[in-house]
Amino acid sequence: MKKATHNGTCQACGRAQAAMYGGNEMSNHGYTVTWGYFNGVCSGAGKPPLEVSREWCDGVIKWLHEEAAKAEAQAVGPIGRVWITEMTMAERRSVYDRQKPKQRWYTQPEFETAKASTLMYCNWHWKDKVDMERFRLNRQAKAAREHADMLAKRADERFGQPLMERRA
Ligand SMILES: [Zn+2]
Repeated sequence: MKKATHNGTCQACGRAQAAMYGGNEMSNHGYTVTWGYFNGVCSGAGKPPLEVSREWCDGVIKWLHEEAAKAEAQAVGPIGRVWITEMTMAERRSVYDRQKPKQRWYTQPEFETAKASTLMYCNWHWKDKVDMERFRLNRQAKAAREHADMLAKRADERFGQPLMERRA
């Protein structure tokens, strides 16, 4: 493959990445932020860079605010289930395993059963997990809004600007 000569700004993650095919398409790149919305391949890969188009970016911003609003509403409502990552510490440290986390929802009875059979949960009470779930939802909403704000700022700065030359 011909080496990209320019970098563009990704419409989804906002980072500078190689722009392929004459600068019209962002190269394939990963997204490793673990707060829940982006994992694995970045949704901006294969899209035009922000310098060329902000259409995808504006959609991502809108979606992030919608997701944040949903999470904020859930955080103040009744919590009937909690989202738990079933992972050992070794798995947590591995980038490979983090990209396919073993996560699932637990209702209180499921939680009590898991707690009785798994050492991992033995220090927590259901009430604590509910508090943590509210905290997680608020943190997720905050991260989504922060990312949306960063993207909006980046779009205002970069849309219509020339691509950046890559250093060899
Ligand atoms: Zn990206």
